[in-house]
Amino acid sequence: MFSNRALYGALTFMTGAALLAGLAPAANAATNDFPAGYEGYHTYAETTAELQKAVADHPDIAHLSSIGQSYQGRELNLLTIGSGSGKPEVLFTCNQHAREHLTTEMCLHIVQRFTDGYATDPAIKLMVDTHTIYVLPNANPDGSEYDISGGRFHNWRKTRKPVPGSSAIGTDTNRNWDYNWGCCNGSSTNPSAEDYRGPAPFSEPETRALADFVDAHDIRAHIDFHTYSELVLWPFGYTTSATGTGMTAAEAKRFQDLGKAMAATNGYTPEQSSKLYITDGDINDWSWGRHKTLSFCFEMYPTGSNPGFYPDDSQIVPQTTRNDAAVDLLIGQV
Ligand SMILES: [Zn+2]
Repeated sequence: MFSNRALYGALTFMTGAALLAGLAPAANAATNDFPAGYEGYHTYAETTAELQKAVADHPDIAHLSSIGQSYQGRELNLLTIGSGSGKPEVLFTCNQHAREHLTTEMCLHIVQRFTDGYATDPAIKLMVDTHTIYVLPNANPDGSEYDISGGRFHNWRKTRKPVPGSSAIGTDTNRNWDYNWGCCNGSSTNPSAEDYRGPAPFSEPETRALADFVDAHDIRAHIDFHTYSELVLWPFGYTTSATGTGMTAAEAKRFQDLGKAMAATNGYTPEQSSKLYITDGDINDWSWGRHKTLSFCFEMYPTGSNPGFYPDDSQIVPQTTRNDAAVDLLIGQV
């Protein structure tokens, strides 16, 4: 989410009010960490440590690599789960939008479930044995680290790369992909806007690295996790038409059927992405348009602006496990 300016304004106001209401900065405000009530969320360093632990505990099925670096030089860590080559490849991506911290927890939950569960859960073992599963928990680590800098939230969405020729910082990663980039009034040319598409497609090293990774693989199914609104969304976002160039009636029906089936498991609302609002240059349109990947966007908990982007850490377990059946359903498709 989102390109609704009125909603942004409301969210900014509410976040400010919430801060005044008692989200006190951490004791050591110089460090980047989550405020009180949010300690269960993982910082970039804590996320990296969890990925390293998954590999240490399960070296036979888990492998940690980097697909590149962020603008500020952070590794874009990828956890690969599987035990052989030539199997259908499935990708889960999280945290394209900085303040959507619950999504990083979603990706960590997928990592933990498919590694820790391998030895004890036959269904997990079967999925891992018959697929290669890639998980990218921090698609925009500069942004998410900035969002918690000083021990308080900054309501930050974009990257942290300065915009050339402007005093503004940051591009919306999920408007920066080069399939119908900027085509349809579904992103902004204003560098200060929340949905600024960037000066060019793949202007951000984070999107460039992820696209290069996908181009070099054969990803058959994909979920890009966001917050919030509790939606299952499918391509295309750039047009309100269900079918057309790049989407046959049969393909559209497959998205609709699978989207509805996944939504039946988690209670989200299923719809074509553009029904929410038009977006152009997003990862799902690109993944389907360029690679025919079964690519979905999940907008996670909550439904509304309270608590919006910042549910406290008591929601991590219920809201990540809530998507287990949908994740399994998607993997089972390929
Ligand atoms: Zn988002």
